[in-house]
Amino acid sequence: MQMAVLEEAFRHTYGYAPTFLARAPGRVNLIGEHTDYNDGLVLPMAIDREAVVVGAPRDDNVVNLFSLHYNEKLSFDLGTIARRQEHHWSHYVLGVADALLRAGHTLKGFDGVLGSDVPIGSGLSSSAAVELATLMAFAAATPSLQLSPLDAARLAQRAENCFVGVQCGLMDQLIAALGRAGHALLIDCRTLAHQPVPLPEGYTVVIIDTAAPRALASSAYNERRAQCEQAARLLGVPALRDVSPEELARRQTELPPLLARRARHVVRENQRVLQAVEALRAGDVAELGALMNQSHDSLRDDYEVSSPALDAAVEIARATDGVLGARMTGAGFGGCAIALAAQACVPALTTNLLAHYPKRTGLTPRLYPCSASDGATWHRLDDRLRQHSLHPC
Ligand code: ADP
Ligand code: MG
Repeated sequence: MQMAVLEEAFRHTYGYAPTFLARAPGRVNLIGEHTDYNDGLVLPMAIDREAVVVGAPRDDNVVNLFSLHYNEKLSFDLGTIARRQEHHWSHYVLGVADALLRAGHTLKGFDGVLGSDVPIGSGLSSSAAVELATLMAFAAATPSLQLSPLDAARLAQRAENCFVGVQCGLMDQLIAALGRAGHALLIDCRTLAHQPVPLPEGYTVVIIDTAAPRALASSAYNERRAQCEQAARLLGVPALRDVSPEELARRQTELPPLLARRARHVVRENQRVLQAVEALRAGDVAELGALMNQSHDSLRDDYEVSSPALDAAVEIARATDGVLGARMTGAGFGGCAIALAAQACVPALTTNLLAHYPKRTGLTPRLYPCSASDGATWHRLDDRLRQHSLHPC
């Protein structure tokens, strides 16, 4: 984000200078797709695109927040938080305030300006970035507010579940809270145990937004979830997380063929996440790329959530020298793919995608080369060196 633009907008809106900056990143999932609701494993990284609030505490209970993107100011009193009828960006902000108050925290108001360079609605979790940036703005305005990363993530998730009305899991909020520069984050979606995993230097994760509409996404998502639950029931386990690839291979005749394929994706994908972590710890980037390729092929063939646009992006990326692997990321049927590329090869990858993807799909891709960044922080604008994060110091 261009901080000067935000600070200038603040001065213009409120007639004085902001005193703090709160920020939280978007995210992309490197591997571990459709495993979260099977109590499985995911490996997201926080990206160097973020939602930012520049602000100043107020002495009363009023929150003013101007959204640069929507060119609209939200003003509310913490004592009277009301939802609108229709979907509105303010719900993410109001929802965070509501969740914090319901959890018993005392909050102070603030004046703020919100900006973000996380693309909206592309599956890079611009929503969790806004939630966590808002939460950090409250932390900056309210000295008594101390939250652990897990509490912060849960409160932001509650805002999205209860106030916005989107039944998301916890992954987006957890990585936005806990990301670490240069690292991905292994998350066990059953226990919420998590650990940073170092990413190799000299490689870039290029996010390829296919610009394809996600037409079937929500109905197919619900259907896949139901199929996984049914497969787990038939196998007599709480979740597909509890089945190893070997056990599934032995028992696959106990499942109808379609459910067996769905289950095969999930159990192998969990294993691939563990293999990817091992490969990263061993510095074996080629192996990580191979696992990403296998993940995509499994999502395309066994889980059937890819699309012609995602397949085209992945195939073009894979055909570029210096690309070690490529896969769809997110729920599927559109949204984004990612490619793991040697840094020096990113320009060639960009050229190839811009040349061939539109010919194959009629669409123009948007490309975001990314590096892994830190999770949510805030600092005083006169003391940029003293970053406050959610990590208990
Ligand atoms: P995503 O995959 O990007 O998270 P969502 O539909 O979950 O997509 O969230 C997008 C919503 O988050 C937007 O419609 C808007 O309400 C809110 N949002 C995202 N970025 C901003 C922003 N810069 N300013 C205000 N609201 C934002
Ligand atoms: Mg979202």
